[in-house]
Amino acid sequence: MSARRELFLEEMGLTPLWRLRGTEGRGEAVHIPVAPAAASRGGSAEPRLPRSPGGADDRAAHIARMDWSELKAAVAACAACGLRKTCTRTVLGVGDEQADWLLVGEAPGAEEDARGEPFVGQAGKLLDGMLAGIGLKRGADVYIANVLKCRPPGNRNPEHAEVERCSPFLARQVELIRPRLILAMGRFACQTLLGTDASIASLRGRLHRYQGVPLIVTYHPAYLLRNLPDKAKAWEDLCFARTTMAGLRQPT
Ligand code: URA
Repeated sequence: MSARRELFLEEMGLTPLWRLRGTEGRGEAVHIPVAPAAASRGGSAEPRLPRSPGGADDRAAHIARMDWSELKAAVAACAACGLRKTCTRTVLGVGDEQADWLLVGEAPGAEEDARGEPFVGQAGKLLDGMLAGIGLKRGADVYIANVLKCRPPGNRNPEHAEVERCSPFLARQVELIRPRLILAMGRFACQTLLGTDASIASLRGRLHRYQGVPLIVTYHPAYLLRNLPDKAKAWEDLCFARTTMAGLRQPT
């Protein structure tokens, strides 16, 4: 293990217990247990864009045809829910727009709202450490986004209507990036993407799918900052993600 990786694992509180076992995992073919779609999303085949009277379907369909520049402009100009009135700026996402890895969190916090980039506060520092632990780096084959593009005031939980309004943007990001693997971090990201009320604990350790893209569930970095023992579980999830990615990259 490189000194740098060791340092990050130490920062995560995961040494000496949690380490990648050498580099054997890279490029290894793995058997990937794929969770049946019905098990992870309450019976429906794929999560659906919001359906409600008043043109939500039309709006989602319109967003689903956007290219990157249209999507960026649409998010910046969005006033579909009340959040844009209280946040400083929208935060679309950051990173490689053709990344193999897509990480999805909940919503911008105060620092993200100030800087216009996801995960730049304390949780972001931990996330960077987690990424480094599996040999990844923000922006290099990694794209980071949130379910909500605007900060909820006082960092309150996202409301159902806000998630519904914002979800088409994330759906389009996934379509445009077409990542090999999505890492959904925290309850809101996992439940939104999988269309389920199931707990993270019950969703971890299996491969799910969103829009056909393999998806792995883990805890939110902000939660991990408050719940140190669960860092070890998050590390397991990251190792699972890394091994899964190696398998997905194998030629078939
Ligand atoms: N928490 C999130 O879910 N996203 C961010 O961008 C920052 C904190």
